[in-house]
Amino acid sequence: MALKYRRVMLKLSGETLMGDQQYGIDSKMLTYYTKQIKELIDIGVEVAVVIGGGNIFRGLSAAESGVERTQGDYMGMLATVINGMALQSMMETHGVFTRLISAIKMEQIAEPYIRRRAVRHLEKGRVVIFSAGTGNPYFTTDSAAALRANEIKADIVLKATRVDGIYSADPEKDPTATKYDQISYREVMNKGLKIMDQAAFALCAENKMPIIVFDINEPTNLRRIMFGEQVGTLVTN
Ligand code: UDP
Repeated sequence: MALKYRRVMLKLSGETLMGDQQYGIDSKMLTYYTKQIKELIDIGVEVAVVIGGGNIFRGLSAAESGVERTQGDYMGMLATVINGMALQSMMETHGVFTRLISAIKMEQIAEPYIRRRAVRHLEKGRVVIFSAGTGNPYFTTDSAAALRANEIKADIVLKATRVDGIYSADPEKDPTATKYDQISYREVMNKGLKIMDQAAFALCAENKMPIIVFDINEPTNLRRIMFGEQVGTLVTN
């Protein structure tokens, strides 16, 4: 079977790294993600990852309790570096070659972001973990995923979630909600559906970067996506 996607941008939220815990990093989740990513590398897919930081710190929520917003956002970005280091370490324990890149310079622990260099790592089969988001406050790691996906010319953004795709309404509140197999950028905007934050979504839509929203907790999903099977919801033109 031929691969449908050769280079992918996988967005992992920090929040899912908590697993069943209330805070921090659950090593079971790290191992799970590692195995999922390794499967893709083993079948020849180039994998870039953007990791979130919501399990440790979010600038916006902290601002509500008095931490100045930009300061909080930088703290959030640092949180993603901690997650990135943890993921890198677990991947290397499992024999996967990785490079950790930080959008904020921290040369002792992560490479600075140099686009051509990041692409070269991918070509060599290394998993490239992008941390520190975009390096700018007022953005999110979804925006970083959209931005870097375009920069490295990924074939698709894979947004890992706990739900199996995009629904017409919140399925937990509305029993008549139906799932879309495929939907256009325009329909997502017209219907006001929330997939990622608006800046991230706009960047994908403008550059016709397809997105698949899928359930990461179903272990066969990522692999099936690579071979073009119907999984989750595809957002495209
Ligand atoms: N953040 C930021 N700029 C970025 C990316 C992230 O300021 O480009 C900050 C922001 O405060 C955010 C926090 O880092 O709340 C953690 O990232 P995010 O909320 O995207 O993580 P996730 O929801 O994926 O766990």
